[in-house]
Amino acid sequence: MALLVQKYGGTSMGSVERIEHVASKVAAARARGNQVVVVVSAMSGETDRLIKLAKAINPRPLARELDQMIATGEQVTIAMLAIALDKMGVAARSYTGAQVSIRTDKAYNKARIQHIDTERLMADCNAGIVPVVAGFQGVDCDGNITTLGRGGSDTTGVALAAALKADECQIYTDVDGVYTTDPRVEPKARRLSKITFEEMLELASLGSKVLQIRSVEFAGKYKVPLRVLSTFVDGPGTLITLDENVGGSKVEDPLIAGIAFSRDEAQLTVAGVPDRPGIAAAILGPIGDANIEIDMIVQNVGADGMTDFTFTVSRGELERAAEVSKKVAESLGAKGIRTATDICKVSLVGVGMRSHAGIAAKMFKTLAAESINIRMISTSEIKISVVVEDKYLELAVRSLHKAFDLEQAA
Ligand code: ASP
Ligand code: MG
Repeated sequence: MALLVQKYGGTSMGSVERIEHVASKVAAARARGNQVVVVVSAMSGETDRLIKLAKAINPRPLARELDQMIATGEQVTIAMLAIALDKMGVAARSYTGAQVSIRTDKAYNKARIQHIDTERLMADCNAGIVPVVAGFQGVDCDGNITTLGRGGSDTTGVALAAALKADECQIYTDVDGVYTTDPRVEPKARRLSKITFEEMLELASLGSKVLQIRSVEFAGKYKVPLRVLSTFVDGPGTLITLDENVGGSKVEDPLIAGIAFSRDEAQLTVAGVPDRPGIAAAILGPIGDANIEIDMIVQNVGADGMTDFTFTVSRGELERAAEVSKKVAESLGAKGIRTATDICKVSLVGVGMRSHAGIAAKMFKTLAAESINIRMISTSEIKISVVVEDKYLELAVRSLHKAFDLEQAA
């Protein structure tokens, strides 16, 4: 008998009919002889609705009270699913994070799970009862309700699977797996049957929204086999695994798992700064102090003792970053700052890059053939990212998808 943790997302829980459908899927998994612990999200749109309500009173609501409020979305769906399971003749019991005791730190709105009590859940399983646990929430050591950050139910699912030593954590969502790229941009995108944790982590941090990043980190750290599947279409989904020998489309090809992209990019250049030690720290230090996350960084080779310094931030942070940089530029005697928001980032990801040379060259050649100018480049062991003009995003993704043979087998 296998122990499965099944997590159902907001779209899967979006209506009474859908919740009854989820109940039938849980019942079917049990009928196949598995023990099942379920984790659910709030009904789709509900968390947004609650946040909006709080912000209607104060645009910056108290963090503790916001968590108290937005944790209610999942309290509704756990009970609804338990009611639906009971109607089907499946014994079920709902639990909030506090009732399980999903203990977190005190960082409201982005709490981290520290400990989970498994006794009650295991006792239910052994008594033939399906525990239905609220995702996204926990409780701190003083009994305050906390939440884990948007998309946090994925993390609850993985953390529960780790604590229960489950055989698999199944993330049920509205897509039937992880794709080589977003099928809305490239209809020929292919579902991957397997992908490594490392690749999934890169894809998630580079803009693929299938799983919350933290849940992938957690699953990798605790070696929880993770599977992404559709609630609405039966199929094997995508297994996220430690096994490196899963790679791309064909064994003999350079092994690219997928192409990620992000439109949420903005570029900031401090022009004409003196080319001397300490300049990077002088420019980026204050940005870090302002809690603004920097992604790519490029410093040109200096000419005549002067250089340009460029970095990217998310679009929402550009204004703040520009304010900070303007002051720094003045104090350094720089020429000034320039900003751009008409950019996007396109990234190739694959563990196969470690053992295959020439992937970067092939990427650049492919983009050149489409006359797409590359503005910035950054690489890691298993990814290559480029910044290009945002109007070329679709073209860049599609041409790379084709060049690296990621298309669906005919
Ligand atoms: N309901 C929460 C959100 O919308 C958590 C989740 O769905 O994973 O972010
Ligand atoms: Mg989600």
